Amino acid sequence: MIQVQDLCKTYRMGEIEVPALRGVSFSIGSGEFVAIMGPSGSGKSTFLNIVGGLDRASGGEAWFEEHQLTSLTEAQLTRYRRDHVGFVFQFYNLVPSLTARENVQLVTEIARQPMPADQALALVGLSDRADHFPAQLSGGEQQRVAIARAIAKNPEVLLCDEPTGALDSTTGIKVLEALTEVNRAVGATTLVITHNAAIRDIAD
Ligand code: ADP
Repeated sequence: MIQVQDLCKTYRMGEIEVPALRGVSFSIGSGEFVAIMGPSGSGKSTFLNIVGGLDRASGGEAWFEEHQLTSLTEAQLTRYRRDHVGFVFQFYNLVPSLTARENVQLVTEIARQPMPADQALALVGLSDRADHFPAQLSGGEQQRVAIARAIAKNPEVLLCDEPTGALDSTTGIKVLEALTEVNRAVGATTLVITHNAAIRDIAD
């Protein structure tokens, strides 16, 4: 589903060049659940952002099915993200003045083939929290709302950048389990950056 060949990314800050990716090759098949692990600063987020169409490579190629991401225009990248990719970040990025259901509906209202918001919340075990505001939810629950929001548009690809980074390890495991449930139920190809060691027993 995703193929990456010799991917390079160099950030330029004035005179200083930071090589974040130096020739990364990678592939992930449809429906797979893959974990990316490694020390801080090793380029994990940079890699995920390029695969998710949030950032551009300096060299090499990245493909999503028959689309060469590394040659798309900004507008095409925006459409790729909107139509095909779900994102989950470390800090949940929920809208505080909206309930869990309304946060998910922000996405289902603009998606092409969304699932009902309540179905997405049920998939992450939060049916009984749909009317709660983010401040009324624990960190792990807020992250599960963010996962529901990411999958409600039925994305082919689900990209998670340290989804457990702000959680204690037990709560983190619950979030990882919610991700595997979703991966199984929806079939979204899933890439997760995490430091939670439990991923070793969970991921493909
Ligand atoms: P990781 O996710 O593994 O912690 P990152 O992809 O965030 O690693 O960063 C890889 C390297 O690129 C680091 O040295 C980081 O400082 C640098 N970097 C990341 N983003 C930027 C940016 N926007 N501008 C300049 N340097 C960056």
